Amino acid sequence: MKLITDSISLSTRGDADIIDITPQVSALLGKHGFTHGQALVFVSGSTAGITTIEYEPGLLKDIPAAFEKIAPKGARYHHEDTWRDGNGHSHVRAALLGCSLTVPFKDGRLLLGVWQQIVLIDFDNRPRRREVVVQMSGE
Ligand code: ZN
Repeated sequence: MKLITDSISLSTRGDADIIDITPQVSALLGKHGFTHGQALVFVSGSTAGITTIEYEPGLLKDIPAAFEKIAPKGARYHHEDTWRDGNGHSHVRAALLGCSLTVPFKDGRLLLGVWQQIVLIDFDNRPRRREVVVQMSGE
């Protein structure tokens, strides 16, 4: 049993930008010689989230549209009283989505469905650099 923590750095466009990070997570298993265990995928920051989706053009529109209904950009957010940074909706959306995910892997392969990819969604109101921590445990 070993435990290794590594990370993936990426740039996003913000505004519910959805990025498929499955290839990078998968590559880290190979890099560290893991075959069997779990990968914890965690984004540092309170305006982005991690989930899985079917990464296809329709959902890349449907998911931002759903979040626009749940936490609209133009609504009144008390977060503005604290920082005036215009991203109250980003924090609410990120809190609802969650910041981490654990994915099991076996025979060196993530046990995702065929139409299931690991994605980072950046809800902030501007382009950002993001650090996604991947902590692998197993053998
Ligand atoms: Zn803020």
